[in-house]
Amino acid sequence: MIYREKLKIMREAENYLQPISYNKEYKIALGFPNIYKIGMASLGFQIVWALLNQNPKVSCERFFLPEDETEPLTVESQRSIKSMSAIAFCVAFEMDYINILKILSRAKIPLLRQERDEDTPLIFVGGAITLINPFALSEFVDFFILGDGEEILDWVESILVRDNSKDQKLKLLSESPYIYVPKYPKDFYQKHIVKDLSPYLCHSLITTPYGEFGDTILFEISRGCGRGCRFCAAGHIQKPFRLRKPIIGENLPLYHSYGIVGAAVFDNPYSKDLCKKIVEEGAKFSLSSIRLETIDEEKLLLMKRGNIKTVTIAPEAGTERLREFIGKKCQDETIFNAIDLSYNEGFRKFKLYFMIGLPGETEEDIKGIINLITILSVKYPKAHFTPSCGSFVPKPHTRYENCPMDNEKSLKSKLDIIKKALNKHKNIEVSFESPRMAKVQAILSRADETLGRDYLLWAFEKGWTEAGREYRERIDKVLYDIEKSEFVWSKLKV
Ligand code: SF4
Repeated sequence: MIYREKLKIMREAENYLQPISYNKEYKIALGFPNIYKIGMASLGFQIVWALLNQNPKVSCERFFLPEDETEPLTVESQRSIKSMSAIAFCVAFEMDYINILKILSRAKIPLLRQERDEDTPLIFVGGAITLINPFALSEFVDFFILGDGEEILDWVESILVRDNSKDQKLKLLSESPYIYVPKYPKDFYQKHIVKDLSPYLCHSLITTPYGEFGDTILFEISRGCGRGCRFCAAGHIQKPFRLRKPIIGENLPLYHSYGIVGAAVFDNPYSKDLCKKIVEEGAKFSLSSIRLETIDEEKLLLMKRGNIKTVTIAPEAGTERLREFIGKKCQDETIFNAIDLSYNEGFRKFKLYFMIGLPGETEEDIKGIINLITILSVKYPKAHFTPSCGSFVPKPHTRYENCPMDNEKSLKSKLDIIKKALNKHKNIEVSFESPRMAKVQAILSRADETLGRDYLLWAFEKGWTEAGREYRERIDKVLYDIEKSEFVWSKLKV
């Protein structure tokens, strides 16, 4: 089926919770640099789309990366993104950077900003990723919005709609400390923080059966995290921790299914009452993960009534020593108690997140992951355990931004040890992210303007492996030989 037809079908299946007018003069195409299914499951993307459409002079249409090699078109009117007045991207993961290049290329837009003329739409980027390291993308993007979109987007739109040249608009935008315009660089940038989120939309306005989480309203229960684990980028860049209070029938519509978005959902004291209300209304809900120490019988019962089938927890490291070291203070006993309580409440599926390659990690910590999961699998033979092992990426702005990354060979061998020891048990299935892809993620989160440009262009033409080979020396400098590197991201105060 051709992409245009496919988009029409997806559009017809969408349910709008609020009418939106698309007849306004200034047109922005807002893209999520991944496929429709993933993009529509991003609450940040959905909220930015709603915010952009609030401006009386602006219509914002969505677009995604087509699954085939075709030109990206907007969902709402299936028009070319090149014909729009401006193009925005909402970016949540470094691995999607390459998809921005694919989208621009398929839309026949020059990849490098300096090669675009006055007729090419201005291209800007927002989203969580801009607070980690926007500099790696700076040669492809006209400007970046740093931080929360609420409040500032309206000001950005007021400049975009003016009858000025692209350059005049960029100059005006560069006057804000929260906007990074690569053409008009400054010494420092700040992130924009909305202290009180209560006046703003907290939920998605479009539901679709074609989204990753199915036909669900996503809503935000909190932004940031109050825990401050040393390794965690989300916890550091989204400070301060802000609680929200969605109320069904008031600022949250009544629906049959909800996806609750927040770093540690039950750290919001109000969330338990809200989950109660959801199940009393006969609806179901899902949660990303639950903090081990907040698990109790009452919450487990609510999760069961809310139709949650899997208990997902994140011990992160295999031993108490390493957990303490990385700021995730959690005893083995807490993990065993949480699983025991969940099992007694009838849960049989457990997903546990771990990281390998953490600073201070020893062989004992790898054995610790194996021991922990083996004990659980023997104690609960009727349960199914999925330990998910990610490779640690030392992200900018965290307490470990100065730490070298563990190398690919070492990560691979640790992963092999874990897989070999655990996959022989029938009720364990190790899931993992390839260390090679974690390395790509690390490069993109730490690259400066020139390495970001060169590495991405090479990867776009020839693939990640070739790009890694071509720029090996420069990559080693940002990943392993860190004392000699200058951190480009220190210009950004988060
Ligand atoms: S790892 Fe989880 S609990 Fe820790 S700071 Fe990050 S989001 Fe918060």
